[in-house]
Amino acid sequence: MIQSLPGFKDILPAEIRKWQFVENICRDIFESFGYQEIRFPVLEKAQLFSRSVGNDTDIVQKEMYTFKDKGDQSVTLRPEGTACVVRALIQHNLIYKGMHKFYYVAPMFRYERPQRGRLREFHHLGVEAFGDPSPYVDAEIMEINMEILKKLNVDVRVEINNIGCKKCRPLYIKVLKEYLMEKKGLLCEDCQRRLNTNPLRVLDCKKESCRKVTASAPSILDYVCNECKNHFNEVQRLLTKMKVDFVVNDKIVRGLDYYTSFVFEIISDRLGAQGTVSAGGRYNDLVEELGGSPTPACGFAAGEERIIELFDYKEDDRFVDAVVVPVGKDAMDFSFFLTENLRKEYIRSEFISSGSLKSALRKANRWKAKWVLIIGEDEMKEDMVSLRDLERSVQKKVKVKDVISVIRRGLDE
Ligand code: ATP
Ligand code: MG
Repeated sequence: MIQSLPGFKDILPAEIRKWQFVENICRDIFESFGYQEIRFPVLEKAQLFSRSVGNDTDIVQKEMYTFKDKGDQSVTLRPEGTACVVRALIQHNLIYKGMHKFYYVAPMFRYERPQRGRLREFHHLGVEAFGDPSPYVDAEIMEINMEILKKLNVDVRVEINNIGCKKCRPLYIKVLKEYLMEKKGLLCEDCQRRLNTNPLRVLDCKKESCRKVTASAPSILDYVCNECKNHFNEVQRLLTKMKVDFVVNDKIVRGLDYYTSFVFEIISDRLGAQGTVSAGGRYNDLVEELGGSPTPACGFAAGEERIIELFDYKEDDRFVDAVVVPVGKDAMDFSFFLTENLRKEYIRSEFISSGSLKSALRKANRWKAKWVLIIGEDEMKEDMVSLRDLERSVQKKVKVKDVISVIRRGLDE
């Protein structure tokens, strides 16, 4: 038997309502904040991500599905959406056309070690806002997150940080590197390498030994420039006004290189080691770095699988409302076309084309249908249908022309 690949999951009909529910809530919220849906390709040129996400990030170093296509072009299954949106923004000149806020609900691909909360194909619910440098956009991004989590009744913590910009970050990186160099022997192998290529990443390492070292490392908050500091202070002032509980965690650097100033993570304690539900921040330089004109930007992506794991949803596994059962050959065509009429009224219906009445009833029960419509010789003659309510165990004959309205209204006692 051929099975699916590790880290790739089927989403089966029994769980699909939950997915649709989460996605509908998010779409409604995104659109109410003025975001427009964008869909971009699953496959992009590999350099889009190495140039944006950053060459020495885990994503680019270890996690990308990159391969040569038949035309010898290096291509990548998208590991995230921000770079794709920025590419589309520049390619189609979207800001000039009056579009500046986008959202997506899309699968992403990362070659990670599959475990709880960590898949190789997973889904991002993300938004990106372009063109406005003001802290109100950062606040708006946070508000969207809070709205979603409130609607889904999910409890979380919010951690924020200021990671500076290309003017102030280099000085901090220098100081951090000097500090870490002295303790190099205590760091894991990955971090020893990161020390030379991208020391900030060491702050992000989840290993206990590295965490001990970074606990007393110099704080980026002491090194950011006035512009970054003011922006961050303003965001904090707005979050306080919005009654968002947050803590400043100067170790948050995010797994991508393109952020500037405000970054955040929203974390749940109910998810084990993979507790980050949503993450994002400001990235004022990325549009320019990818070849567009300088455009400030801010966005986030939430992990749909992790949100779904967190929120309670009473499953509704009914997928058929009515089952139409002809009894005898003569009733076949009539029943088939009656089923068609129910479907035209969006009553989810199944036509039983063979077998006994008993087996039809068994099927109806297994499908958790509410209604069974039985059409035999007598019913045909009288232009009636025997309508049975399986939930209430009542059955009555009703006129064919009244069937739909009775199904809508329910059978009288
Ligand atoms: P992590 O620290 O968990 O690896 P990340 O920094 O790589 O997260 P982002 O790239 O910012 O995550 O993606 C945003 C969100 O997408 C994460 O907070 C998480 O909820 C979700 N996510 C990221 N990678 C995966 C994955 N492999 N499987 C499932 N969800 C994921
Ligand atoms: Mg990751």
